This record gives sequence, C-alpha cells and structure tokens, in this order.
Amino acid sequence: MFRHSLRAVARSSGARLSYSRPMIARSFASASQPPFNWEDPLASRNLLTEDELAIAETAERYCQERLLPRVLQAYRDEHYDPKILEEMGELGLLGASIDGYGCAGVSSVAGGLITRAVERVDSGYRSGMSVQSSLVMGGIYEFGSEEQKQKFLPDMARGKLLGAFGLTEPNHGSDPGSMESVARPHPTKKGYYSLSGAKTWITNSPIADVLLVWAKLQETGKIRGFLVERKDCPPGTLETPALKDKNGLRASITGMIQMDDCPVPEANMFPEIEGLRGPFSCLNNARYGIAMGVMGALEDCIARARTYALERKQFKGNPLARYQLVQKKLADAASDAAYGTLAAIQVGRLKDEGRAAPEMISMIKRQNCDMALRNSRVLQEIFGGNAVSDEYAIGRHVANFFVTQTYEGQSDIHSLILGRAITGIQAFV
Ligand SMILES: Cc1cc2nc3c(=O)[nH]c(=O)nc-3n(C[C@H](O)[C@H](O)[C@H](O)COP(=O)(O)OP(=O)(O)OC[C@H]3O[C@@H](n4cnc5c(N)ncnc54)[C@H](O)[C@@H]3O)c2cc1C
Repeated sequence: MFRHSLRAVARSSGARLSYSRPMIARSFASASQPPFNWEDPLASRNLLTEDELAIAETAERYCQERLLPRVLQAYRDEHYDPKILEEMGELGLLGASIDGYGCAGVSSVAGGLITRAVERVDSGYRSGMSVQSSLVMGGIYEFGSEEQKQKFLPDMARGKLLGAFGLTEPNHGSDPGSMESVARPHPTKKGYYSLSGAKTWITNSPIADVLLVWAKLQETGKIRGFLVERKDCPPGTLETPALKDKNGLRASITGMIQMDDCPVPEANMFPEIEGLRGPFSCLNNARYGIAMGVMGALEDCIARARTYALERKQFKGNPLARYQLVQKKLADAASDAAYGTLAAIQVGRLKDEGRAAPEMISMIKRQNCDMALRNSRVLQEIFGGNAVSDEYAIGRHVANFFVTQTYEGQSDIHSLILGRAITGIQAFV
C-alpha cells in the first residue's frame, strides 16, 4: 500500500540521514507577509530534511489510515493487537534510528517524527512501539554482544519478535537503584543464571517474546541487563500477568514480570554494562521519543478542539471560536506545541552529533509532557459535556497524558535531575 518503506528512503540517501540547511522560502525584501500556518506555527518543517519529511509522511499515512480507525474500539476493549508491531515492522518503523541489523538507520529527529505520527493517534500505540524500538532494541544495540544483536535485532525490526523492558518493581519505581530482583549462579544448570523477583507496570510484558530485565548480580551487587526468552523458561519460572482495568493507555497492554528461579543463559547477559547507566541510557532514547511523541497527541487535541469550536454555536448563533476565552485556550496550546516541537528537533540534532546532555532530554521530556497534559485538560473544556463521550477523543488523550507524565521518570523526578544540574546539589534523598 505504501510505496516506500523507511529502509528504502534511508537507502536512497545513504546510511544515515544528514541535516542540510533549510531552504529559506521567502526573501526579506518581499513586501507581503508570509502566511501563518496554525498547524505548524513556527514552521518547524523548514528544519527537516527531505528524507525526514518523506519518513514523517509515510508514518503519518500509515497511522491515519491503519491505526486511527482501530483506536476507539481498542481503547474501549482495553485491547492491544500485536499485529500492529508487525505492520510497523513491514514499514521499517521499528528501531528506525538503529544502523544495520535490518533497521532503517534514520536520524534521531526522523525517529521522533515517527513517534509523533503514532502518538497523534494514541499514546498507547506509541508506548508499545517505543518499548520495542528504544528500550529493548536500543538497549541491545548499545550494550548487547555482537551475537545478541545478530540474534534479536533483525526479527525485532520486523515485529516478529516482541520485546518488553522490566525496570520498575512493586516497591521501587522512581528509585530503581534499590531494586530487589536478583541474579545468582543457577544451582543446577551450568552456564546459567537464576533470576528471581518481580517487575510491575511493564508495557508489552504479557505478549513479549524477549524481556530485557534489570537485576542485581548477587556476586557483585551491581545491576546487569538480562535478555529473558520466554520460550526457554520452564513452566512456573516466568509469569507475565496482564494488569487490567487501567484508566489510561488502554490501547496498550501492560503487565507484570514475575520470575521464580528463572534460568537465563550467561550468554544472554549484557557483557559489559553495569549499574544504572544501562537502563538510564535506554530510557534516554525512549524519553526523546516521548518528548516528540506527545507533541503529536497535543496537536491532535488542538485540531479537534479547533474544529469543534468552529462548528459548535452558543449565544446568538455564534461559534465558540468567536469568543476570546476559547481563542486563548487554542493560542496557549498551539504555542506550547510549537515550542515543544522546536526544542525536540534541536535536541535531536545535538543527539546525533553526540552533544545532547541527558539533562536536555530530561528537560524536553518533562516540559513537553507537562504542557501536553495541562493544555489538553484546558482544551477539553471547549467540548463541554461532549468531552465526556469517548467519540470526541479528547478525554482519551487527557487520560493518556497522565501516564506519559508519569512513566520514564515522573515530571517531578526530572525536576530533581534538572535541579541537581543547576545547583550542584542532589535533592533526591
Ligand atoms: C501504563 C504504564 C506503563 C509503564 N511501562 C513501564 C515499562 O514498560 N517498564 C518499566 O520498567 N516501567 C514502566 N512503567 C512504570 C513507570 O516508569 C513508573 O510508574 C514510574 O517510574 C513511577 O514510579 P512509581 O509508580 O513507583 O511511583 P513512585 O516512585 O512511588 O512515585 C510516586 C510519586 O512520588 C514522587 N516522588 C518519588 N520520589 C520522590 C522524591 N525523592 N522527591 C519528590 N517526589 C518524589 C514521584 O514524582 C511521583 O509523583 C509504566 C507505568 C505505567 C503507568
């Protein structure tokens, strides 16, 4: 259906897409004023390469044609169709910024544009994709042995092998350093570790074939990453029950990971990386995708609120859009979406140049998630009583934004990360 997969786009322009100076569309000498585009108020498109625009178009078309028609029922039924990851894999949307191993090798900004397209439909769909792409594939690419990369990445890129990322535990969310999950030498199986412990609120865990689990190695007390393959776990050693009846992110699937002396081959442990740097580095990539992604969902809220305000008439047949209070709500939201998008593009460029400090990603993740939640709650008011109907979609975005503000570092935790960087004083404990 789609003429180009991302892999084809990337191939046609060399392995890694490079940033070229934007075209200046108009000369300063021109007399007439350039038009204002409410859908891209600060002309962020001018900062994108032709390849990035083509990738964004491919992703947007798939999301609008294939995901949007499914989302309302999926949200009502709290159902996630794993085929979605296969469809995304066919288009090259998974692990898109990874070079090689069947991945497209696009820029970080292009990867962000994909998350923005998916999240414009629903944050739950973006979450399922981000876990696969950034948290698990990204982790394997960055820290896995060559053998691990060859074994897992090509099938994950095609969406044939599904991943989950287990860091959060029932007693340790914001403070993962205190995790209780433990890996010790297996008492009977030579060359294996035995993993015990529980992870909770894990996206994709009930459907995952490979679970990247972080646990403390008993011998050293250091956190290590383990690739737990469901097919190799004897009955009773690995359970991944779903957590049902969520009131946000219902179009994604979330569960637990319960390990009871689960045998994992030594060859499935990440070879070098120790401590929190491993999981935090994976989170950094995923947080970048969230920062760009939530701008897509906020843009959807703006477009829907604008349409509603133009059509709905109150007092003397005036459209709601005629009233100043309503216009201010739209102006606030459009400004925050435009600023957030520009900030995410800037950090993406720096990321590809190796010049993005983790605090920059904390800043855009926190700011864009907070602004998306705040503005969507205000835009919801424009719909009056109709906001309560799920047909209008705005309530779904608001509920999802609570989760995006909470996971991968709750906003207040990112405030502490930024506060530490600004003052030099650690305020976590
Ligand atoms: C739908 C969903 C999907 C998820 N998917 C995944 C996944 O795939 N993998 C995964 O590993 N995790 C996942 N999570 C877990 C998520 O990352 C955690 O919920 C998050 O990190 C917060 O941890 P917590 O829920 O334990 O909250 P807590 O750590 O208990 O925090 C509760 C509140 O206290 C605040 N707080 C905590 N410590 C401090 C402090 N020192 N100073 C000030 N305030 C503080 C927090 O900011 C927060 O507001 C998911 C969560 C949800 C809801």
